[in-house]
Amino acid sequence: MQFDFRRTKIIFTVGPATESEEMLEKLIRLGVDVCRLNMAHANHEWTRDVVRRIRSVGERVGRQIAIMMDVKGPEIRTGDLSAPMELIPGEIFDFVVKPGAEGESDEEIRSVDVNYQNLINDIHVGDTVLVDNGLIQLKVLEKQRARIRCEVLSPGKLESRRHINLPGVKVNLPPLTEKDRRDVAVGVEEGVDLFALSFVREEGDIDLLRKLLRELESNAGIIAKIEDQLAVSNLDEIIQRSDGLMVARGDLGIECPYEELPIIQRRAVKTCLHLGKPVIIATHMLESMIQAPLPTRAEITDVANAVYEQGDCVMLSGETTVGKYPLECVEVLDRIARRIERSGGAGFADRIELTSDKARMLRSAVVMANELESSGLLVFTRHGHLATMLSALRPHRSPIFAFSGSTSTLRKLRLHWGIEPYALEFNSDPEVMVARALSILKKQEKIRKGDKLVVVSNIVVNDRLVDTVQMRFVE
Ligand code: PEP
Repeated sequence: MQFDFRRTKIIFTVGPATESEEMLEKLIRLGVDVCRLNMAHANHEWTRDVVRRIRSVGERVGRQIAIMMDVKGPEIRTGDLSAPMELIPGEIFDFVVKPGAEGESDEEIRSVDVNYQNLINDIHVGDTVLVDNGLIQLKVLEKQRARIRCEVLSPGKLESRRHINLPGVKVNLPPLTEKDRRDVAVGVEEGVDLFALSFVREEGDIDLLRKLLRELESNAGIIAKIEDQLAVSNLDEIIQRSDGLMVARGDLGIECPYEELPIIQRRAVKTCLHLGKPVIIATHMLESMIQAPLPTRAEITDVANAVYEQGDCVMLSGETTVGKYPLECVEVLDRIARRIERSGGAGFADRIELTSDKARMLRSAVVMANELESSGLLVFTRHGHLATMLSALRPHRSPIFAFSGSTSTLRKLRLHWGIEPYALEFNSDPEVMVARALSILKKQEKIRKGDKLVVVSNIVVNDRLVDTVQMRFVE
């Protein structure tokens, strides 16, 4: 028997549309795998409340999902305005980096403050400044003391505290701000499973967060968000150093020429598959469903493409924070993913780099599962390594039933393609473990009498751990 399951995982971002206990329960029952907290819009009281609510709903429903805290990272914003300004093409406009020290200006020239003083040193004449998701475009004409004088190229309404993107400019802001550090401390206290770091520019940024997590005695995973050209140049090293990657297409599509975006996405997914790291495709997957109950044809194809590429997760942002149809969005992702996955795959990934004998042994287990047309790969895993290595091999035909005694491992496994995590009390007798695991799967109707399973575990023989791959018939 092959039970119907979705290999591609679904991440939703929690917000006003989904934060209630009732909505969280519906989402968890619908099959979301990871909840993302976007710290650009969250305070600590709300964060603690939501994390506790998700845990208690998970407990009640019997399905614990992973929680990923997305920290804001370095960000440049415009200051407050008493009233919005309509910027017009050809207008000369100033960004003031140090209010009060900007010196004399022509009365006619309008300006706005910026929250980063050193911008005047990082930016060069001829650079592009994009404001509010790239809506307003300006070109730097000259730098004067504390003023950056620009020409407006594409018009728009400038409001208070808008995000600034600087394509191709190396900004010397620290990778972790003081706010990020305070947010991480709260996340660790609440037992968050994963931290996503925004605007990662090089592998050293990951090391910094890893050090902070160690100091706070957390073993949470780190997801690197690639959002600009510098991250793209350092992509391989960033992936190697992190526990997963997010292709953050919102900012990436502003910081890079938009026609590069599909190429970057494909390269990021391929590299993650090659290195055996999980990858998330994020932003605008079902953007139109913020307002409408059905996706556009282009969105359906975009989601399908992410599934064809074999990314681990697809992610919802505005669709589930403020959208009118959050539950429908999850149903749409689920339906597309299942259909595309059914349309076939290679049987296992041949692009992965196998660097150890253990990895080569696991590939043999996947080949064995394919050959036997097995109903599942059953793996016992303490810290999740065996299970995530199996997932990286993309065993198309068989679900990975991963059993662990660690709640934190089980939750983190929700991020990985094809894994169905189950809690199991470990026992020194491997036969007891197999019997317990089979009984859980039978009770949940994931397997039945006569099914073939491939079991991956390590057992103690003469005081030494021995890796084993076995074929088992379900009795
Ligand atoms: C993105 O830019 O695509 C993204 C996911 O980041 P954020 O929502 O934090 O801007």
